[in-house]
Amino acid sequence: MTVQTLPVRRSTTSAVQSRETVDWKTQAVCRNPEVDADPEDFFTTTKAGQDRARSLCATCPVIVECLRDQQAKDEDIYRWGIGGGLSAAQRRALGVEARLGQYPDLESARLLISPRWSYRLRRLMSTCYSLEGMVRSLAKDGLNVDTVTVRVAVWWMGGTGSRMTRLAPSDPRGWSVQLREDYADMVVRLAEMKVRHADIAAYLGISGSWGAKAVGEVVRAERAAAAQQVAA
Ligand code: SF4
Repeated sequence: MTVQTLPVRRSTTSAVQSRETVDWKTQAVCRNPEVDADPEDFFTTTKAGQDRARSLCATCPVIVECLRDQQAKDEDIYRWGIGGGLSAAQRRALGVEARLGQYPDLESARLLISPRWSYRLRRLMSTCYSLEGMVRSLAKDGLNVDTVTVRVAVWWMGGTGSRMTRLAPSDPRGWSVQLREDYADMVVRLAEMKVRHADIAAYLGISGSWGAKAVGEVVRAERAAAAQQVAA
C-alpha cells in the first residue's frame, strides 16, 4: 500500500491567518452555553472530572488552537488543569518533546481523532505495545505520522501514550526495573539538559510522585556508577 503524508495546514496558510482574525474562543465547546460543561472539571484533581473535561475537549472544533494557546502561556502558574485536551503533565511532556526536537503535527493529530480514524486509533491503543508500533501500523494503512503526533492523538482519546514500551503480560519486569534497564541513558541525557525529574517522568509517561522519585533514583544510580568508573 502506498504511504502518503497527511495534508498539513501549517501556520503560514491563509486558513491560519483567518483564524488569527476570528477569535477561536467563540467556537470553544466549554464556553458554549448549550453544552452542560462543569468548569470545575477542567481544574479538578479527580480522574472522573478530568476524564469528563477531556471528553468534552475531544469534541471541540478548536482543540488545536486551544492547545497552541495553552502551550504559549504554559508558565508554571498555568501548569494545572485540562487545556487543549491535555493535562498539565501531558503539556509538560510536550515541552520535553520540543527540547528533543520533536513537534507534533496537531492538524494530523486532529484528523486521527476524527470519526474517520478514531476507531482505528482506538484499536491500536489496545493492541500495540508502543507508539512506534502504532506509527508502523498507521503507515501500513497509508498514513505517515510520527510518534509525537500519534502521542497527542492518543492523549486526546484518553490513552496513556507512554514513551515507555508497554510491558507484555509475560514480561516479569516492573516499570521501575524497565526504567533502569531500558531508559537510563535517556533519563541521564534529559537530566543533563536540566529537565526536572517530574518533567522527565511526564515525558516517559510515568508521571505522578512515584514517577519523579523513580527518575531521581535512576539519575543518582547512574551518576554514582559513572563516578565509580572514573575512580577505578
Ligand atoms: S479544547 Fe477543551 S479547554 Fe480548549 S476550548 Fe475546547 S473544550 Fe475548552
